[in-house]
Amino acid sequence: MLPAAVYSWFVSLEIALAVVTFVALCFIVAPYGGRHGRAGWGPTVPARVGWVIMEAPASILFLIFYLLGDHRGELVPIIFLVLWQAHYLQRAFVYPFLMRSGSRMPVVVMLMAMAFNLLNTWVNARWISQYGSYPASWLGDPRFWIGVVLFVGGYALNVTSDRILRRLRRSKTAGAATGGYSIPQGGGYRFVSSPNYLGEIIEWTGWAIATWSIAGLAFALYTFANLAPRAMANHRWYQQTFDDYPAERKALIPYVI
Ligand code: NDP
Repeated sequence: MLPAAVYSWFVSLEIALAVVTFVALCFIVAPYGGRHGRAGWGPTVPARVGWVIMEAPASILFLIFYLLGDHRGELVPIIFLVLWQAHYLQRAFVYPFLMRSGSRMPVVVMLMAMAFNLLNTWVNARWISQYGSYPASWLGDPRFWIGVVLFVGGYALNVTSDRILRRLRRSKTAGAATGGYSIPQGGGYRFVSSPNYLGEIIEWTGWAIATWSIAGLAFALYTFANLAPRAMANHRWYQQTFDDYPAERKALIPYVI
């Protein structure tokens, strides 16, 4: 087993990556997905394939790292394992097969995401089942329940928002003049342009609170760093693409920004 000091270094690395990612993404829009895709990023794979390859390790390796921990048989760590897998089994093995876009993803983006997932998965799985301590009494702590409620609420917002996007592509002619894109309506889209990202950020903030850990905080920070600049880019893209885009809709946080 690695000494705790080495573990702390990896957590610090993840926090540093969050800062670097945020700064970088304020200047560069990550070139995955059809509307932000562009040439010059090397070979590409179908986005569906990219999603499975980059997200599957987050599910499979989490389970393996988890099972290596001394606390693997305890109730609270098992609940955290279930929450994590609820997200990543959906993201790696369900979401990619529901996608209706034929967009492509640069291999380099896929590899960077895989590398991050490897680090993040190790940092969080090892915390939950080895370095952290979650006796059954943690179930009586409000932080656990506040976190779980946020996690489940964020998950629901994320999944339902992605579903609304998919339905926009039900017909082959929908959004024909704008590359297959239309203005999403209903659900979280009444308030913001990227409720799927908002849901994801809420979800991992919930994880950070429920686990009350630096590992969870590092992941929540990274998720925000990754998705907030992209939400701003999506919002600008909608406003530039659709003359009738709802003026009251914000980018990421209802009524604020
Ligand atoms: P997007 O919202 O950009 O796209 C999701 C899908 O919907 C794509 O297939 C896209 O097609 C399609 N789509 C988007 N907008 C429209 C529209 N207006 N009309 C028709 N189709 C549309 O999400 P991402 O691809 O960035 O992310 C997908 C999921 O992954 C989200 O749930 C997100 O939260 C999560 N994610 C999490 C990250 C993290 O750090 N935890 C990082 C990145 C993503 P196309 O590909 O052709 O644009």
